[in-house]
Amino acid sequence: MRANLAVAKAHAGAASVWAVVKANAYGHGLANALRGFDAADGMALVEPDAAVRLRELGWRKPVLLLEGFFDRQDVETVSTHSLDTVVHCREQLAMLEAFPLRNRIDVHLKINSGMNRLGFRPDEIAAVHARLRALPGVRQIVLVTHFANADDEANPAMPMAEQVRRTRLAAAGLDAPLSMCNSAADLLHAELAERWVRPGVMLYGGTPGVKTAAQFGLRPAMTLTSRLIAVQQIVAGDAVGYGSRFLAPRAMRIGVIACGYADGYPRHAPDGAPVLVDGIRCALAGRVSMDMMTVDLSAAPAAGPGSEVTLWGAGLPVDEVAQAAGTIGYELMCAVAPRVAVAVR
Ligand code: PLP
Repeated sequence: MRANLAVAKAHAGAASVWAVVKANAYGHGLANALRGFDAADGMALVEPDAAVRLRELGWRKPVLLLEGFFDRQDVETVSTHSLDTVVHCREQLAMLEAFPLRNRIDVHLKINSGMNRLGFRPDEIAAVHARLRALPGVRQIVLVTHFANADDEANPAMPMAEQVRRTRLAAAGLDAPLSMCNSAADLLHAELAERWVRPGVMLYGGTPGVKTAAQFGLRPAMTLTSRLIAVQQIVAGDAVGYGSRFLAPRAMRIGVIACGYADGYPRHAPDGAPVLVDGIRCALAGRVSMDMMTVDLSAAPAAGPGSEVTLWGAGLPVDEVAQAAGTIGYELMCAVAPRVAVAVR
């Protein structure tokens, strides 16, 4: 995590780096994030209770609520713990006006530059900026936007360059710095790294949809491992698991792995999805069940009960498993279940 943060910082130049640690640091745990990202300039996340936990764990640098606050109680939390916050809608603006902050904080005013998820329209920004400026609790105002297609810039439905254009138009004439980049933009567009950047997935060694993590010098922070707990010798025509999805084309050994969808492994992973057994690449064979999954051991004849299995991580990029399962590495990492023990090496 430290090494990946260093890559993000090198790409960010003079910009400050928010380490994005929402969803329990993309499944890696807040305590690990605090250690791995101690050189970050701030931590950004979505959950107010996790923001408080960062403070309790001793993080004194800035904390940013990426979706802002949701009710009066959260405004209180923002004040008490000196959290910086996004303001993305009229309701939040009205709450800040109604319940004055007791500490001065930075506000990240969100521009909806084309993603149409959160934020004010570009033509509303000057007026909202003026209202925020009038609040004594507001220290600096940063203008923030989020790209829909940083990993696919030329997407004709909303090219990234168009979002940049709209953001700069909204910012023109306002005394407010910008925060635009997620991982993909940070890695590919040094010129967009202004006051702040907000990398997430790259810090965990995941690929932000462009090239592969390794091509950017990123290393997987999480390795999900288990063991074989049983081996079945089956013959041609035998079926494996629920729904009998996998039919053996020949006699083969099937390894049973102590990991299933209750651990966060995707149930929809198809036969053939890659798994490492004793470091050897094998293929998923049969539907993933709650606590177990089954694998064709043809490539690993010496494997048996107790053999070490890697589901993803070192030696098997999470993005590759995700691709096989029709999803993205983000989803796999942040869905690792609480019952999985986390060991930090
Ligand atoms: N900024 C915002 C507002 C986000 O919602 C996210 C994640 O979705 C990020 C930054 C980090 O994105 P990534 O993990 O692609 O770097």
